[in-house]
Amino acid sequence: MEIPTLLRQHFEDPYHRGTCEHPTHSAEKHCPESGCVISMDVLLDAATNACQEAWFDGQGCEVCEGIASMLVEDLERRPEALAEWAAAIEGLNDPPRSVSRRASLLRRLGLSDLDGLPQVPCIDLPFLVLGAIVQQAADDDPLAWPHFGGPSLGEEV
Ligand SMILES: [Zn+2]
Repeated sequence: MEIPTLLRQHFEDPYHRGTCEHPTHSAEKHCPESGCVISMDVLLDAATNACQEAWFDGQGCEVCEGIASMLVEDLERRPEALAEWAAAIEGLNDPPRSVSRRASLLRRLGLSDLDGLPQVPCIDLPFLVLGAIVQQAADDDPLAWPHFGGPSLGEEV
């Protein structure tokens, strides 16, 4: 199946691929079915929890690496992005809601629907990594993340 152009561009010329020099939170996850690994580092402002830097790295396929690149770019460009993603990711691990959650997460990135994407098992991987980071941030500072609850995304994929 043809990979959407936007995703291919991010895979070939990724945004902030590498590691953050002084991350406040980091997470890595592995997809056993595809063998893909994605990690993310973020630097959150201690006072506001705004994302100042976001980086990804890993050994993934063009779908999960492309999504990870798009995600870290959005996190850096928009101060409110992290809180929005945190709310949107909640429920992704909860099977009754996960299909609609996945579609809405991909729509947020401008990937209009699942039909245009190869059905790879690691499609959720970048979102689950970001979910684990938000879970860490919420554990550190619960008052700052009042809407982040539900099944722990810190668990294994
Ligand atoms: Zn992958």
